[in-house]
Amino acid sequence: MKILVINAGSSSLKYQLIDMETEAVLAKGLCERIGIDGHLKHTPLVEGREVFNEDVAMPTHSEAIAAVIDKLTSPQYGVVNSMKEIDAVGHRVVHGGEKFASSVLITDDVMKAIEECIPFAPLHNPANITGIKACQAVMGKVPMVAVFDTAFHQTMPAKAYMYALPYQYYLSNGVRRYGFHGTSHRYVSSRCAELMGKPIEELKIVSCHMGNGSSLAAIDHGKCVDTSMGFTPLVGLPMGTRCGDLDAGVIQYLMNKYGYSIDEMLNILNKKSGVLGVSGVSSDFRDLDKAAAEGNERAQLALDMFHYWVAKVAGSYVAAMNGVDAIVYTAGVGENSGPTRAAISKYFGYLGVKIDEEANKKRGEDIEISTPDSKVKVFVIPTNEELVIARDTRDIIA
Ligand code: AMP
Repeated sequence: MKILVINAGSSSLKYQLIDMETEAVLAKGLCERIGIDGHLKHTPLVEGREVFNEDVAMPTHSEAIAAVIDKLTSPQYGVVNSMKEIDAVGHRVVHGGEKFASSVLITDDVMKAIEECIPFAPLHNPANITGIKACQAVMGKVPMVAVFDTAFHQTMPAKAYMYALPYQYYLSNGVRRYGFHGTSHRYVSSRCAELMGKPIEELKIVSCHMGNGSSLAAIDHGKCVDTSMGFTPLVGLPMGTRCGDLDAGVIQYLMNKYGYSIDEMLNILNKKSGVLGVSGVSSDFRDLDKAAAEGNERAQLALDMFHYWVAKVAGSYVAAMNGVDAIVYTAGVGENSGPTRAAISKYFGYLGVKIDEEANKKRGEDIEISTPDSKVKVFVIPTNEELVIARDTRDIIA
């Protein structure tokens, strides 16, 4: 069985074709500048096939999908003989609201429900819907499955997901914490249990997804019980460009002081804040590491704030779960930056965490970075959201 995994953005579309017999990625790629001009980078991972990296006209997502199918089935670049070999498509969908606590087969009713979640994710869900419709237009009756970023967090208890606002805003408007990166937290926590050789139902895990966007999740006996992103991905930790937790009074103060509109204010909070805003250097942690090593104090402050926040939120989850068996680092920063992992892990001395410095230098694989006598295990686990989407799609169409 071969499954196409699609992650559609407003002007981009990422894809992977996965062979479910071996879980090997047969090809992957990225369409960019959809609706502007269009560019496709297609990388087959099968011997003897060539990389395609050229401009292709993509006025809409339908042309993008058609170009992807064309390359996947081409003798020169392709990895299958015809579209008939693609058994199903799994789509990443950002927001499933309270309607979806797990992945689902896409039907007309499911499409309607995803559309109803647009107010919660006005930038992302419309793009995801466009991607699904484009696939349906090009691929006809091939079964399609939606996998939601929010679904894994639907197990949170009300005490964790409710905001202390008038209750009517929850009841009438769905205002609550939803959380994001759920597919990633789900993958790394289940992989962590495998690496520990224990059922996930016996473990308490803090999962730290640290990339350009960052969130933590508390996973108690396999169920998410808290997470740091909220109604939107803006809150929780300071991120690449997002501010993380913030006193709403600051918003009123700055809007009054500078006459910002709410859109201008949100643009500052989403795009100009976080480690970029504090450092004035970059949102990229590699640039921050370099600047801090050269003595840039604000770059060092931005890094210190990030480490402190991860440790502080993780500590609150240890309290929420009344203990912790393992801590997992994942995503761009978590998988690649040994110094970041070491700086955060220093805060966990009270838990009896001990880091093996040599193991912490390794990259690109599942690694246990705690020492054998560490009271809490610490792992680096490269996330694989596409594989979760493909597995869910396989299970649902079966
Ligand atoms: P993601 O959003 O998961 O793709 O992660 C992107 C982030 O990973 C970027 O901000 C990069 O700074 C960060 N990153 C990638 N490689 C490294 C590295 N070697 N050291 C520090 N940060 C890294």
